Amino acid sequence: MAECTLCPRQCGADRALGELGFCGESNRITVSRASLHMWEEPPISGARGSGTIFFCGCNLKCVFCQNRVISSGGGVRRELNADELSELMLELEAAGAHNINLVTPTHFSDSIALSLEQVRHKLKIPIVYNSSGYESLDALKRLDGLVDVYLPDFKYASPDLAKKYSSAPDYPEVALAAVSEMFRQVGECLFDDGGLMKKGLIVRHLVLPACRHDSMNVLSLIADTLPVKSVRLSLMSQYTPEFALTCEYKNLHRKLTSFEYNSVLAHAESLGFDGYFQALSSASSQYTPNFEEDADFIQGGTFEECSP
Ligand code: SF4
Repeated sequence: MAECTLCPRQCGADRALGELGFCGESNRITVSRASLHMWEEPPISGARGSGTIFFCGCNLKCVFCQNRVISSGGGVRRELNADELSELMLELEAAGAHNINLVTPTHFSDSIALSLEQVRHKLKIPIVYNSSGYESLDALKRLDGLVDVYLPDFKYASPDLAKKYSSAPDYPEVALAAVSEMFRQVGECLFDDGGLMKKGLIVRHLVLPACRHDSMNVLSLIADTLPVKSVRLSLMSQYTPEFALTCEYKNLHRKLTSFEYNSVLAHAESLGFDGYFQALSSASSQYTPNFEEDADFIQGGTFEECSP
């Protein structure tokens, strides 16, 4: 991984020599938490939980990140090789997980692909790739045939907002190309008899305070690019200002209002999306996993289904 170009940052860090990239990680796979998680969308969490594996570091580092503890090098950290990561997936399946949910995997995606190639044939449950959407096409193509469900964010339509909040002015064009490639790989959503997702694409969007017009533009961009009835939208209201109080953007110091969220939800309905929405009560840090303690937990979900 000399001169890493794995993600769109293309920062060129020599991770094999231990140099840390913008993502904050060398080439050693580092995981903070692996547990059954009930706070994902209903077809991902199901009744028993999603087998989440939270990777340390992040190639986006949004100013409002709710997982900042682990995206910035803190919290519990366990180094794994590709074999150990494969073992962890098998353990989560044995514990009852409905799927393997790889959270913030982008900057380890090449090592994860190796691990998946080893273990894919042994797992009976789907692989979910849960990312920020800031992905290179080459890295995604390496995952073709290894991932069943893509669960990307689509954060911004405006390059200005993407620059201010995530230091990534190219985010909108990069994310648009990424979700197109993801859809090309997995196609139309497919569910089992119990309503769990077996294959497909769920695009997540978190509505930010004072950014509802950009949120509507995000939804319009997705609807112009993908067949809306073949994918699912997860419209999130769980923005928690606690994680952004030290940033310079005053609008991020408050919670979302119901007017802001409902106006974006109405736009989603007008575009014909099916998917999932959250009650505003989800906007609480109680729904942020504790990455400081080395313990498993299972809690109640925050999403509701909607079919506009
Ligand atoms: S994955 Fe990390 S090291 Fe590689 S280009 Fe992206 S930010 Fe840089």
